[in-house]
Amino acid sequence: MRVNFQKGEVGTLSGNAWFERVMRWGQVNLKEDDPQTLDVDFWVHYWQRAKVQGVTINAGVGVAYYPTQIPFHRRAKFLGDRDVFGELVEAARKIGLYVLARLDPNWGHEELYKVHPDWFLTDAEGKPRQRGQAVPTASEPQFLSATPFAQHDVLYSTCWNSPLHREFVPAVMTEIMERYDVDGFFTNGWPPINWHPPDLTMVCYCPHCQEKWRNRGHNRYPDKPDPSDPLWRDFVLFVQESVEEVQALWRDHTKRLKPDAIFVWNSHGSLSTGLRWERFIQLADLLNDDSQGRRVGEPLWVSGRCGKVMMAVSEKKPVLRIVGVWQVGEPPMRHTAKPDAELRLFFAEAIANGQRAWWHVLGAELYDRRWLDTIADYFNWLAEIEPYLQNVESLADVAIVWSPQTFWLSSWTQMNPSPMEAFNGWYQALLEGRIPFDLLPEWKLTTDVVNRYRVLILPSQTCLREESIQVLTKFVANGGGLVGCFEAGTKDLWGELHSGEVWSRLFGVRRVSEPPPRLRHCYMRIESNECEHPILSGFGDTNVLPGASYLSRVEALERTQTLLTFIPTYPVHPPEKVYPDPKRTDVPLVFYREQNGRTVYFAMDIDAAFWRSRLPDHKRLLLNALNWVRKNEPLPVTVKGPGLLDVTVWRQVNSLTVHLVNLTTPNLFGGPVTEIVPVGEQRIRLRLPEGTSAVKVRSLRTGSEIQAIAQDGELLFTVPQVVDHEIVAVDIRT
Ligand SMILES: [Zn+2]
Repeated sequence: MRVNFQKGEVGTLSGNAWFERVMRWGQVNLKEDDPQTLDVDFWVHYWQRAKVQGVTINAGVGVAYYPTQIPFHRRAKFLGDRDVFGELVEAARKIGLYVLARLDPNWGHEELYKVHPDWFLTDAEGKPRQRGQAVPTASEPQFLSATPFAQHDVLYSTCWNSPLHREFVPAVMTEIMERYDVDGFFTNGWPPINWHPPDLTMVCYCPHCQEKWRNRGHNRYPDKPDPSDPLWRDFVLFVQESVEEVQALWRDHTKRLKPDAIFVWNSHGSLSTGLRWERFIQLADLLNDDSQGRRVGEPLWVSGRCGKVMMAVSEKKPVLRIVGVWQVGEPPMRHTAKPDAELRLFFAEAIANGQRAWWHVLGAELYDRRWLDTIADYFNWLAEIEPYLQNVESLADVAIVWSPQTFWLSSWTQMNPSPMEAFNGWYQALLEGRIPFDLLPEWKLTTDVVNRYRVLILPSQTCLREESIQVLTKFVANGGGLVGCFEAGTKDLWGELHSGEVWSRLFGVRRVSEPPPRLRHCYMRIESNECEHPILSGFGDTNVLPGASYLSRVEALERTQTLLTFIPTYPVHPPEKVYPDPKRTDVPLVFYREQNGRTVYFAMDIDAAFWRSRLPDHKRLLLNALNWVRKNEPLPVTVKGPGLLDVTVWRQVNSLTVHLVNLTTPNLFGGPVTEIVPVGEQRIRLRLPEGTSAVKVRSLRTGSEIQAIAQDGELLFTVPQVVDHEIVAVDIRT
């Protein structure tokens, strides 16, 4: 079968560059021993069968998969006389695929270390420091296979301030571009702060780092990650600026070698990313999101969360999601295929949240072939429906405000509750509430951007700069809705408390002291005159609701009203002692205010508590508050029916799409999913954007037309069943 997309063809996106039109990638990540068995024809056939449009092929730096002439550029151990990179590039080119040459600048072998010890991360004693992928994962020699093939070499981590990054990598790029017809480069594991903020393992005593650090006016490195210490803050900036320099250098070098070639780094939809995305994104053509699978204990929707992170930072540049066909976990099983259901749903979450698809298999020599049919089938579907995946914008009108620095602080010093619990609590609540939502990075909190939303959410602990709080205060004054929990917005990006007044204006409450230590068995009392309030709707026959674990000590300002009162911790056993004393206090827990817009502030970490215990009362409180601040305005799309669905809604140039990903599975919180559990009829109301009318409604999963009723600017229709991933496409006329 021919690929249905040829080089040079004009796509339907507004962008004209080739990389904006490519929707599907594949990656066979070569092992060093693959040159012994590589069957190029097999992969050519599979690329065609899976309808990929671009491939990433291992080229060099860590090891070379071609006969390089650069001194100390070590060839793959079993390369022999072959040029496997060249063979694969030529084969891919013949069938019209785009090719990225994969480089790995993160590590080197001992022979390189011996000639250039200054190219490697160095500790205070002058010894090489192994971090990241250079840390051996099979450290007990007795368990290593006795065959020489399986003996792994000692690897050393390279330093981004050294000539390796600044001279050796560009030289390899030049050699590759001169010899092979490739469209750009992809660097594995680069930059080192794509997942995490800088940490102490990035302190380097190589001569290049030491000189640069001294030039910043310092005579010593920080000895702990202390966000209140100016030395640590400057170290963070030092790492960020260093990787930005390298990034710019590699990108510029690529463009000099071939003007329409691209340089693609290895990004990740991480909430705690250490990148200054607002700067880094300027250095991007095409992005990837290397969130290949879920780690132990991660929910299935972590794939969608990574998607939302990347869409929030991407500035509409295309984002490819790399999904490993192998099993991520502890330990990762690199050569065991994900079950069909997990692979489909993990991809579905990425696609439903705005990304494009890139599969990744480890090794050209296949020990496990069970993924081949799943990927071919799924990618053929993606090819068929391609125009409906070329999103122009998300139509969600709710957003969770996300500040990566909150997660940095939590990685450097303990934060209670953890921001991840709070964030995930909101995420799970919104999913269960079937509310489409975006993430809104704190650096984008400007009046123009926030005014696109009806409701913004500040999870417990969210740290914000003072200007952002002013923007949010104005957002509410202009009619927007805001919900926040425990200490949200009280601190700046380095964890310093804002002046009382700035924060007080946001929620109409005054912070009176530091929160007390963790609480245990406590409650929230519903007073009899409160049960009619919409924020407490649906609680029915109870006087108490479960408390959370952390309490902000705040009091209401004028015009702020309150609900629920605190019942302090009391014993859980012995049963004789299980009674509150006192039975009630006058400490309020919910603060709400109605001006032009509405705000709700929960003085407890209701969001984190929901994540820890997943009690429905906490979810109901969060969703009631959200509904109250949005003044019961209908959502862009409402979907009613059984099951847990991730609902997203997008606009393309001439259509709208509603994605329904079926997350109904006993393996939601611990994978892999082994069985798809179809859910029944879903009744959908879709609001049509102003000035548009619907021409045709269709299920992209079954291909069949859906009968819809147009009524008051909305479209009403029913989807009889959702198996794994349903996409309803509505062709529109403007
Ligand atoms: Zn260094």
